[in-house]
Amino acid sequence: MISFHEARNKILEGIKLLPSEKCRLEDLLGRVLAQDVTASFDIPPKDNSAMDGFAVIASDVAGASEQRPVTLQVIEDVPAGRVAAKSLKPGQAIRIMTGAQMPEGADAVVPVELTSKGIQNIEVRILKGVKQGANVRRQGEDVTTGQLLIAKGTRLRPQEVGLIASLGLTEVMVFKQPLVGIISSGNEVAAPGQPLKPGQIYDANRFSIGGQVKEAGALVRDYGIIADDLAKIKETLNQAARECDVIITSGGVSVGDYDLMKQALSELGQMNFWQVKQKPGKPLAYGHINGKPVVGLPGNPVSSMVVCDQYVRPLLLAMQGAANMFRVQVTAHSNQGIRKQAGRTEFLRAKVKWQDGAYQAVLTGPQGSGILTSMVQAEGLMILPEECEGVKVGDMVEVELF
Ligand code: AMP
Ligand code: MG
Repeated sequence: MISFHEARNKILEGIKLLPSEKCRLEDLLGRVLAQDVTASFDIPPKDNSAMDGFAVIASDVAGASEQRPVTLQVIEDVPAGRVAAKSLKPGQAIRIMTGAQMPEGADAVVPVELTSKGIQNIEVRILKGVKQGANVRRQGEDVTTGQLLIAKGTRLRPQEVGLIASLGLTEVMVFKQPLVGIISSGNEVAAPGQPLKPGQIYDANRFSIGGQVKEAGALVRDYGIIADDLAKIKETLNQAARECDVIITSGGVSVGDYDLMKQALSELGQMNFWQVKQKPGKPLAYGHINGKPVVGLPGNPVSSMVVCDQYVRPLLLAMQGAANMFRVQVTAHSNQGIRKQAGRTEFLRAKVKWQDGAYQAVLTGPQGSGILTSMVQAEGLMILPEECEGVKVGDMVEVELF
């Protein structure tokens, strides 16, 4: 039996990077960049006002105070989106709105709160001096021309999409999304919406796994539920291997009489490994059909989700060229003792609390591999490495946050 890291490395070693394609701004969220994004101009493109107020020459108003205001002549009004026609001379001010380009000659902005009206709109009284550059956003203070803004391999979040838009781009190159075929298996597994016959359970996995696959940026093709019937399993696997980039099954990989997934995989392609020193998810089967990776997840709803998170998610992100395919980990103090023997990696469902300047990890109740509510309450997975021989209260543990 191989260890967790060996198994994951075996899966990641054989990755085929997907080709790239153009993608419109509207569809960029969650996609992985296949190009560097660099700035073709400065942002802001020109100095502009950070406040609603008056553009002034700082030396004109240096000594201003409420007792001794400085009165300036207002020569123009500049809303955002317009550029002043006049340039400022000593003794003058231009009324300016946030975001409007700084007028020629001005070198600071006095916020409107620090002014009072002079004669109608022709004059303004400045009640406080400002320094040169005060309340001015400098040209290029956010982005300078030629700067690398977002590197190839970055998975795009809303802020990156916003930055791309602020460069005026309408499309960029991203890696294609893997199409993932998802198959549930088992004579006892019924589709939600159908009446349950005695001995049946509803299919959770196609939907939990489907969600995880989508969260990893991939596309789902649903092959439904197949009975524990070798011919039917092979037929569906074959079809999925023709149509998809990756195939994920759940159920049928243990050692029971009806666990036919391994046999089907071996007969149609090859099985690279089966069984990993881990809990939950020991009977994980991995192989290829038609050159396409096939991940045979165990049937238990928690096992299948944990294995999907730890193996399939990085696999799908790597296929999309993501530079970063693993989750963020925090170190936390365990709030309880945990029994464990060395020899297998364990993934426990946990919450984290910030307490007295450190994270504390709290398990989400019973940890059985069929108890899906342990996942529902979890904020992440506590990962106890193979060599760990148990945890005492207060020991440091790693928690990977969802
Ligand atoms: P298996 O790996 O086929 O032996 O299944 C292990 C356990 O997971 C059994 O109790 C199954 O009933 C259950 N199971 C298998 N597939 C699903 C599924 N799609 N949704 C919910 N539970 C499942
Ligand atoms: Mg089964």
